[in-house]
Amino acid sequence: MAAEKPHMNLAVIGHIDHGKSTTVGRILFETGVVQQHILDAYKKEAESKGKGTFEFAWVMDSLKEERERGITIDIAHKKFETPKYSFTVVDCPGHRDFVKNMITGASQADAAIIVVSGTEGPMEQTKEHVFLSKTLGINQIIVAINKMDAVQYSEEKYNEAKDKMSKLIASVGFKPAETPFIPISAFAGDNIKTPSPNTPWYKGPVLLAALDDFKQPDMPTDKPLRLPIQDVYTISGIGTVPVGRVETGVMKKGMKVSFMPANVEGEVKSIEMHHEEIPQALPGDNVGFNVRGIAKNDVRRGDVCGPVENPPTVAEEFQAQIVVLQHPSVLSVGYTPVFHCHTSQTACMFISLDKKLDPRSGQVKEENPAFLKAGDAAICTIQPTRPLVIEKAKELPQLGRFAVRDMGMTVAAGLVLNVKAKQMR
Ligand code: GDP
Repeated sequence: MAAEKPHMNLAVIGHIDHGKSTTVGRILFETGVVQQHILDAYKKEAESKGKGTFEFAWVMDSLKEERERGITIDIAHKKFETPKYSFTVVDCPGHRDFVKNMITGASQADAAIIVVSGTEGPMEQTKEHVFLSKTLGINQIIVAINKMDAVQYSEEKYNEAKDKMSKLIASVGFKPAETPFIPISAFAGDNIKTPSPNTPWYKGPVLLAALDDFKQPDMPTDKPLRLPIQDVYTISGIGTVPVGRVETGVMKKGMKVSFMPANVEGEVKSIEMHHEEIPQALPGDNVGFNVRGIAKNDVRRGDVCGPVENPPTVAEEFQAQIVVLQHPSVLSVGYTPVFHCHTSQTACMFISLDKKLDPRSGQVKEENPAFLKAGDAAICTIQPTRPLVIEKAKELPQLGRFAVRDMGMTVAAGLVLNVKAKQMR
């Protein structure tokens, strides 16, 4: 049997209508996940529904419908392979709420393709997504300059978009010199799998080659176990089975584990992944595990499982570096929006605004500012309104970042600098 390829979660991000869905559809086609006859079927159906020009995007939009009708094409999870990696597209472009998806553990991305239209260049959402990618810990990106067919494959247009994107990504800390900027047409298929004759001036890698060039992400197996709970089931004949993704560390059969903030303990009796029992679970594994000693109602979504000797940290309060993305007015002490951190959603109050920072250099601009507004970066002290597990981003980045949501939008995002731990026993 061939050894399993290392796995990567890939986010495909960018401004609406710049071609994210089309790009994913094209990748699935070029890597053989979606076959020609399926595309033909889609095309026919698209035409019968009065959608004149066939679009790969339509494939993506139709996926949900397909699944509901039970057609057996396994692209529900949008998995594809390059020679080196197996990829899962974690942020389905159909999900408009990219930010929220990125925060809840299930869809944490290791790398991203930023799609920007060559006809328009970077737009508002491009900036927001690039910024958030960096804040949330994505270190590897590819910039795909799309719709090159619509600008007659103009090198000048490519350079224009590339220059703007270089500045944009550099402003949040990505290195343009280490980032591929690939002129593509998701629609026509240029520079996806093989170099396009339409862009003889472009000497860099094609999209699939650039994906294959990503560095393998480190597996945080040497860290303590942290497994945020997504759901809890009772399975007859087995017992209580929490489900979630291992973020750090290793879960082993027989291990004594603690759930926080629930503050209950149990023993891992068995671990299951893809309907098979496994002796241990590693970072990135989505597992269900049977625990002896706890009942279904003892733990819930938002709790985090860790070793009894090094349990997840419950915060009395925490200090964080945040950036305010959008807010209709200003953010001040007493503001209590919902914090999305791993699988938890918890209302937390800003109890002090400690320092206002220059968002680019990180230099302190003002001590104890009276308020913060969109575009500001700051260090703040925050108090959860009910017990919440959160960790220092430096030690456990996966558990130390969050998005702040209010009024249906992402108000801010941030990283935890320090935690004042609550004594749990
Ligand atoms: P998303 O909102 O970013 O997911 O964008 P879509 O993939 O839905 O594409 C938005 C529109 O741009 C659709 O009408 C696509 O057909 C069109 N489009 C996407 N990629 C290309 C491309 O490479 N060339 C051209 N000309 N149009 C494209």
